[in-house]
Amino acid sequence: MKMTILQRFSSIVHLSVRNGIPLQKFTPCVACAAKHYSTRKSGEVTMDSSLIRNIGISAHIDSGKTTLTERLLFYTGKLAEMHEVRGRDNVGAKMDFMELERQRGITIQSAATYVNWKGTNINIIDTPGHVDFTVEVERALRVLDGAVLVLCAVGGVQSQTITVNRQMKRYDVPCLAFINKLDRQGSNPVRVLSQLRSKLNHNAEFLQLPIGLEKEQEGIVDLIEQKALYFDEPCGLTVVEDEIPAHLRTEAKERRQRLIEAVSNVDDILGEMFLEEKEPTNEDIKAAIRRSCIKRTFTPVLMGTALKNKGVQPLLDAVLDYLPNPMEVTNVCLDNSKQDENGNPTKITLSSERTVDNPFVGLAFKLEAGKFGQLTYMRVYQGGMRKGDTIVNTRNNKKVRVSRLVRMNADEMEDISEAYAGDICALFGVDCAGGDTFVNKGNTQLSLESMFVPDPVISMSIKPVNKQDLDSFSKGIARFTKEDPTFRVAFDPELGETIATGMGELHLDIYAQRLEREYKAKCVLGKPKVSFREVLVSPCSFDYQHKKQSGGRGEYGRVSGTVEPLPPEENTKLIFRDKTTGNNIPKSYIPAIERGFRKCYEKGPLAEQKVSGVLITLKDGDSHSVDSSDWAFEQAAYQAGLDTYTYEWSMLEPIMSVEVNAPQEYQGAVLAGLTKRNAIFLGSDANEGYFTSYSEVPLNMMFGYSTELRTQTQGQGEFTMEYSKYCPASEETVNQLTESMNPDKKKDSEEKKRRKN
Ligand code: GDP
Ligand code: MG
Repeated sequence: MKMTILQRFSSIVHLSVRNGIPLQKFTPCVACAAKHYSTRKSGEVTMDSSLIRNIGISAHIDSGKTTLTERLLFYTGKLAEMHEVRGRDNVGAKMDFMELERQRGITIQSAATYVNWKGTNINIIDTPGHVDFTVEVERALRVLDGAVLVLCAVGGVQSQTITVNRQMKRYDVPCLAFINKLDRQGSNPVRVLSQLRSKLNHNAEFLQLPIGLEKEQEGIVDLIEQKALYFDEPCGLTVVEDEIPAHLRTEAKERRQRLIEAVSNVDDILGEMFLEEKEPTNEDIKAAIRRSCIKRTFTPVLMGTALKNKGVQPLLDAVLDYLPNPMEVTNVCLDNSKQDENGNPTKITLSSERTVDNPFVGLAFKLEAGKFGQLTYMRVYQGGMRKGDTIVNTRNNKKVRVSRLVRMNADEMEDISEAYAGDICALFGVDCAGGDTFVNKGNTQLSLESMFVPDPVISMSIKPVNKQDLDSFSKGIARFTKEDPTFRVAFDPELGETIATGMGELHLDIYAQRLEREYKAKCVLGKPKVSFREVLVSPCSFDYQHKKQSGGRGEYGRVSGTVEPLPPEENTKLIFRDKTTGNNIPKSYIPAIERGFRKCYEKGPLAEQKVSGVLITLKDGDSHSVDSSDWAFEQAAYQAGLDTYTYEWSMLEPIMSVEVNAPQEYQGAVLAGLTKRNAIFLGSDANEGYFTSYSEVPLNMMFGYSTELRTQTQGQGEFTMEYSKYCPASEETVNQLTESMNPDKKKDSEEKKRRKN
């Protein structure tokens, strides 16, 4: 048996290499999936929104997210697999399960997997847990309507839990909590519940109780139904109902009452029944939980052990019972053709009705490279599309034919012929970028993403250890930068190095790891560098004439106008406006002028950091019918930009929101440590022996913080950090930066200044 698994396994690896795409064991390569799994099956799509759930599973690393997802796929695909599990009498069920797990590895990591549970379609959307992946996380959270927050019964609320919790709050994602690993030594669901209340501020209560913990873990009690549930072999497939064991009956009654009270506090209907001392029916309780869960005023807490196959089916039931369907979530999109009083695009509410009568709007939320070209995962927000339809990418107005529509169904790729609002599907052969909005003809003014991409805040040099890996290194980089707009890579000719920029050290680290694992290109990363910005202090004007006469055709262009600092809330933008009137500069040269300024502002006057937070207004200029050209105007603008460097400039640095959570006894030490790192404190919470401190700290001051916090709190403190904004840099930082500049360059820029004065 072991051999079979290995053989199967190695054949997968072999295949993927032969296809020219070196892949990790279970990489989410759909092309491979297509090879391994039947694609004959054709799927029907439901027309009933109430039978759809789009959910994400979020967890701190190692809480059991993967194991749980595997079980979800297993139980929802149970009919086909039961046969297989039972068919081989002399083989242990566990072995078969492992094999299934291996096969499923591919689907588990795909961007969206579709399963069917009791007639409801559940799309499980992969949500990257780490805070550094801002854009990816935002997109994934936008695509899902509800989430399961997995917690470890021993570890409880950990730093990543705090992070994903904050993200769910920001995007108003309703969630269920699942306390996993009840079988582990030291498991304590009651403590985890109290952490959900104290550290995450959830109005949370148990919907279940464990029957035994650690080695004695046998099953769970359903508090609403007042029943015991056991999960019989093989693989916990059969859920057996029984009476609650005698020793748990009193507790089960008490906990049920607590649940009703917690929900009554936030739900009017149940609250009224409670006040009138009416006994609610189980249906009343469930309906109230559903209403309050969707409003995010109550968090149902379930539990089990994914590894030992206990508690998974009731979790699936809870997804149906308590998480919203697409009709119960409001989705908006931007109409760029109309502006509100602040000059922002107006928002329109989309209809989740499942009909082609409404204009189609869909979001390409994730791309995967595969052998058949690019697989594009899309969430439909309004209207519908059918195979053969033509849709338009609103970013570039490119038309795309929907030649093949699929969804990943457990271990098969399933062809579908249509997709409607609320659906998640994948398209083949569509060239686009993650975050692109698709519509049908005539609606190209719409966009789902504000297209605001945060500026990368940190950079590191990156290169493959072995020169012969350069090819696969480039392939990997090309894919990752396409998928994640906050990850950028560019060659710096002056340093002779490839520089990767991103949202944090870990962000870049993870891509280095993926290059090694998925593209067999082991990389070395240089020291992290913070990305500063240079801003103009007060408005100035420019007037530059570029003129070259050296036989033949000359070069001529003159530009004049102003450069002004933008308000602080726009200090990462660089805006160019053409306010010229008349024909002094023909309109066709305007893009070249903008390009010239942008090129110049790549390197600011103080420390060669990017210039931002400025508004360039082109007001006038001159041209020559023969000597003017794009090139000449680009030069003129570039030089005009350099001219502005003679005025006063200052530096900005990225500020991070830092959240630290630790036992109260360490509060003094932690706050002192943060103060030393120039923290500005925004507030704090204290709950059941723990404190949470919220502060803003310059990224430049955060290096080595995890080690420091560990020492300060004997390993019991956690922190999360997220990019917040750019703010004026401290004088100390500015001095350090200008000091550290290469002396030659420093002389150079001083020279430039002198020449101008
Ligand atoms: P992820 O990082 O959240 O995806 O977690 P994994 O699913 O990879 O699980 C991490 C480790 O915890 C693995 O060794 C699993 O076998 C183990 N694990 C997962 N669920 C359980 C459980 O219910 N009980 C126990 N004892 N271990 C579990
Ligand atoms: Mg995992």
